[in-house]
Amino acid sequence: MANDDKFKKVISHAKEYGYVFQSSEIYDGLSAVYDYAQNGAELKKNIRDYWWKAMVQMHENIVGIDTAIFMHPTTWKASGHVDAFSDPLIDNKDSKKRYRADVLVEDYCLKIEGKINKEVAKAQKRFGDSFNKAEFVSTNGRVLGYQEKIDTILKRLGQSLEKEDLADVKALIEELEIADPLTGSRNWTDVKQFNLMFGTKLGASAESAMDLYLRPETAQGIFVNFLNVQKTGRMKIPFGIAQTGKAFRNEIVARQFIFRMREFEQMEMQFFIKPGTQKEWFEYWKEARMKWHNSLGLGKDNYRFHDHEKLAHYADAATDIEFNFPFGFKELEGIHSRTDFDLKQHQEFSGKKLQYFDHEENASYTPYVLETSIGLDRMFLAVFSNSLVEEELENNTTRTVLKLPAVLAPTKAAVFPLVKKDGLPEVAKEIIEDLKWDFNVFYDEKDAVGKRYRRQDANGTPFCITVDHETLENNTVTIRHRDTMEQKRVKIEDLKAIIKAEVDVKHWLMRMQ
Ligand code: ATP
Repeated sequence: MANDDKFKKVISHAKEYGYVFQSSEIYDGLSAVYDYAQNGAELKKNIRDYWWKAMVQMHENIVGIDTAIFMHPTTWKASGHVDAFSDPLIDNKDSKKRYRADVLVEDYCLKIEGKINKEVAKAQKRFGDSFNKAEFVSTNGRVLGYQEKIDTILKRLGQSLEKEDLADVKALIEELEIADPLTGSRNWTDVKQFNLMFGTKLGASAESAMDLYLRPETAQGIFVNFLNVQKTGRMKIPFGIAQTGKAFRNEIVARQFIFRMREFEQMEMQFFIKPGTQKEWFEYWKEARMKWHNSLGLGKDNYRFHDHEKLAHYADAATDIEFNFPFGFKELEGIHSRTDFDLKQHQEFSGKKLQYFDHEENASYTPYVLETSIGLDRMFLAVFSNSLVEEELENNTTRTVLKLPAVLAPTKAAVFPLVKKDGLPEVAKEIIEDLKWDFNVFYDEKDAVGKRYRRQDANGTPFCITVDHETLENNTVTIRHRDTMEQKRVKIEDLKAIIKAEVDVKHWLMRMQ
């Protein structure tokens, strides 16, 4: 399936199967705002839990908090967001469409990358099993030429953004002859900075109301509570504080479904460390986070690191974990070495000391911070889009399967009576009554069993359990596995253990070891 078609299919499947709806759809929706439906809310919760367990429960020295969306407005002055949390925008004078200037350039590079991929695919076909991809991309003249072009463009973009040289960003767009993707026009305005924070007001009367921002990241709630948590939790460096929660950004262009939303959820962890140890912790968390991703089995080739050319104002090293979304490799998670920037700024703006007394060193210092920050919605999209497949079956039919990692699937098992009579529904409901204490389960008696299987395949349910006449004789049922479609006859009393073995968080997280 072509990537565009695949992405369309992902969006329509998410709606049809109760995963994601457009917000306020009956009023024609709200741009880049989405609602999670009955299955989506479960999948999202399971991803959040999977992250929380890996980060908080499995680490003695990481605790989780839940801070408010509203914060004192000085927070955002101290953090640098009031002055520097902006994206470079450019308007097309003919189409009146607005774009992120850096994204236009990055998308241009993605197209060149597409050419590299084509060369690789061609060579792969030519050389068959003996094909060595790593060797090919490091020696083939055409590929090297394309790669050099990408590197040169991205380097220049990074440097211009770093120096705030917006005129050069525009010059780059013009030199590369980048056109409005919708209309083909090259009639561009100058590039300007646009602050992404949403403003709001707190207070009952117009005169006394206080100007506030909706938080654009959850991290600052952690920084301002650093000392509270350290003291009350008697935390010793190195230690981490994690939280998940909503963040808001007035994104300039937001038209990639839940990839870029104006209201979204982050899962962030700030790890407080001794100054000077940031390099080793940066490497540690890069590896740990990649292992977490790989534990879900979405395919190692679908992830890559992308080191930042342009570092944010607070960082001394930064990398993205990029994922192969239906529209190409894009940022899924950021790992940032934030130095002591945030704590020092809050110390200065609040006038309160935010230091740590290190008993071993017998000295106080401002800790350095290593951050891992992943978008829950982007993770949802990564999991969902990667899991959706069309499979050709032996009898020349196709089936749509949502091969969600079983640990994340909203419903773990569906239970069917083969027919709606002879006492079979009663037994199926007894099984539901028993299993529902441990798992989300679903009862279905409508349509032929084959059709019910297909519905559950498309919904991502890992197991289907069918009660038939033999069940009445010997208390056995068939259990069908979503991915292999294999069916086995098992005892009803063994069902819980069979399902648990495949959906248990421990079983999945152990793969990180
Ligand atoms: P991008 O370059 O894609 O705008 P960013 O570098 O601004 O992302 P961060 O500030 O590092 O993103 O935020 C951490 C994570 O939060 C990102 O890796 C991403 O997964 C998620 N995220 C950021 N902005 C959005 C958004 N508008 N919608 C959904 N998720 C987002």
